[in-house]
Amino acid sequence: MTPFCGLTLEELKNWMGSQGEKPFRAVQAFDWVYKKGIRSFDEMSNMSKELKDLLSQAFIFPSIEKIRELHSEDGETIKFLWELSDHKRVESVLILSRDRRTVCISCQVGCPARCAFCASGKEGLLRNLSVGEIVEQVLHIDRYLAAKGERVCHLVFMGMGEPMENYDAVVKAIQIFNAPEAFHISQRRITVSTVGVVEGIRKLADEELKVNLVLSLHAPNQHIRKKIIPYARRYELQEILDAMEEYSCKTHRDITYEYTLIAGINDGIEHAKELAALLQGKQCTVNLIPYNPIPNLNLSRPSKERIETFRAILEEANITTTWRYTKGKDIAAACGQLALQKTEEAVAIFSQDVVGSSK
Ligand code: SAH
Repeated sequence: MTPFCGLTLEELKNWMGSQGEKPFRAVQAFDWVYKKGIRSFDEMSNMSKELKDLLSQAFIFPSIEKIRELHSEDGETIKFLWELSDHKRVESVLILSRDRRTVCISCQVGCPARCAFCASGKEGLLRNLSVGEIVEQVLHIDRYLAAKGERVCHLVFMGMGEPMENYDAVVKAIQIFNAPEAFHISQRRITVSTVGVVEGIRKLADEELKVNLVLSLHAPNQHIRKKIIPYARRYELQEILDAMEEYSCKTHRDITYEYTLIAGINDGIEHAKELAALLQGKQCTVNLIPYNPIPNLNLSRPSKERIETFRAILEEANITTTWRYTKGKDIAAACGQLALQKTEEAVAIFSQDVVGSSK
């Protein structure tokens, strides 16, 4: 059965038509689910008993269940751990800043990219999430916020999974996030992060959507990139950068490059200089992320001083940088870590974030 939240309004209108119902019933149903926050079809009080029965026979709602909610000590992040109908687990993070309510969503269980520093890919890809499973992560968090008179306003596909490898579901979920009858979140407030799948970047550039696109770059050259990102073997770095430029030209969106700094691997002065040369003249921002330690990985994060030196070299070359320093105790904060832990072992040891930006 399809999750209800996997349907666009158009699809639900068609389904209503196939049941001999008027299309406006679809708008009403969307209103109940996305605006009024009902928890079952039974609560749709302006629908007939027959229609409610038909809906519950045709669609699953809800299709994911919250099994854990972890609050950081500083109150700035809340992690949600979800269980799917096949008992697999994924997570989302709600990031609370002064004027923003951002949700970081997962699009796959596990990840095919298997980056050396990331917990999500440790077990490879287990399966794609359905559109409904992607949409519901935001729906449940939106309800959580609605109880406090707030709404989700920004979305980032930076949780578990590689969005370009679950392309159709991600694009359809974005359409639902964007739809005025559902979440009405503007495309400029939606960000997709990719490990660099060239066909996907090109395809996204030709969609009607104009979402922000982020490339997980993590290295100043193909040689180092291949060492930490197995997917890098599929595409030449220059080909990926060209596809990103093309995306930016077609959509008029600025490009952001993510760069996870790992001690002794990609954090040296020579790497910063090489990165500055690689990105010279490009209209872009580099988001520096200190590696967030993951148990059993023999990697470490650079010191703050080393990050500052790295950053200063980019700044001198007129490259805009942002950075976020999460302290080492914040063990469950990196992508995918929580879903890999057994529930009873999951610990909420978050600590203060220090956020900096050169903007
Ligand atoms: N597959 C997509 C999106 C998921 S990862 C992509 O590769 O972009 C989103 C971001 O999480 C990546 O850019 C990566 O830098 C970051 N990340 C994952 N594990 C991390 C870790 N242990 N420390 C710091 N950043 C990490």
